[in-house]
Amino acid sequence: MIQNILDFFRNLPAKQCVECKKPIAEQHECYGNKCDHCLGVKDI
Ligand SMILES: [Zn+2]
Repeated sequence: MIQNILDFFRNLPAKQCVECKKPIAEQHECYGNKCDHCLGVKDI
């Protein structure tokens, strides 16, 4: 039962950066849908 739940989360599609379409980590939810690279470029 527990393994089914883990598989469910593992099979979730990774977030994609709206700028470069690269997969981004879920840990940056507060930044919206952009990857670190695009956020960095915006900062500069
Ligand atoms: Zn990006």
